[in-house]
Amino acid sequence: MNQDPFGNRNPQSRRRGAGGLRLWVLVLFAGYAAYYWYSNRTVDPYTGEEVMIDKGLSAEDESAMGLQAYREILGQERAVDPDAQVARQIRAIAERLISRVDEVEADLAAEKGVQPRNFAGNFEWQVSVIESGQANAFALPGGKMAVYTGLVPIARNADGMAVVMGHEIAHALMRHGAQRMARGKLEQIGQMAGAASGMDAGTLQTVMSAYGVTSALPYARGHESQADEVGLMLAAAACFDPAEAMPLWERMAQLGGGQSPPEFASTHPSAESRIAHLQSLQQKAMGFRQKYCGQGGGAAAAG
Ligand SMILES: [Zn+2]
Repeated sequence: MNQDPFGNRNPQSRRRGAGGLRLWVLVLFAGYAAYYWYSNRTVDPYTGEEVMIDKGLSAEDESAMGLQAYREILGQERAVDPDAQVARQIRAIAERLISRVDEVEADLAAEKGVQPRNFAGNFEWQVSVIESGQANAFALPGGKMAVYTGLVPIARNADGMAVVMGHEIAHALMRHGAQRMARGKLEQIGQMAGAASGMDAGTLQTVMSAYGVTSALPYARGHESQADEVGLMLAAAACFDPAEAMPLWERMAQLGGGQSPPEFASTHPSAESRIAHLQSLQQKAMGFRQKYCGQGGGAAAAG
């Protein structure tokens, strides 16, 4: 009763003598992958780099997905009363950061010699504070953000909080989620090609990592570094003190693996390299602060 429901469709016998066909399947998939990359690449105004974002995914679609995810998360968590002091303070920090988004995008795009896109022009920004021991925060496409109360003692002051929130806003502005989705699609194409060509899983893995398709971790690290940089410029342009970034990430690193959420812990090579990177950006950040806050560096930032 061990009959194969597909009759004589034995993959071993089928594979023999089908080398030419398998090669064609691979070529077709490779062609489609190349076509997908070329037709969906776009220049990120914040970094001047060419990135891949599915052109079929509109800003409205992305915002709608962000909103849906936001509602789902808030449905599972307990939000702090919006009139509570902590909620008002966090909202005020968010407002200052958001008010500088267009200027910082225009400045960074000009620095790279590319056009700003004003992708966040239609965002409806909103920040909720979630009652939680986790030191976490996020910002979704469409402008929906959340800060977990566990982050408040780690941020320690408004400057530290602005560094974290700037980082999260930067992820949303640079469409890192959409970039990961496009990358996931390309990976699927690669996997289908591998399966169709009869390549074994080990070989497929080797080929894909050789072409940088499955190197998800360094890819995520790149996004983290970019969000650190753009977020720091945003915080500085909003008259917060960029020098608070280093002690902030030191405190975050001291939380240890168990307590810090993956967003801040596992995707970055190490706390030391992150802090060194932020240190190297201080002069640039101070330039932003002077430009937008004058010589005094913005007395409004105190506290
Ligand atoms: Zn991040």
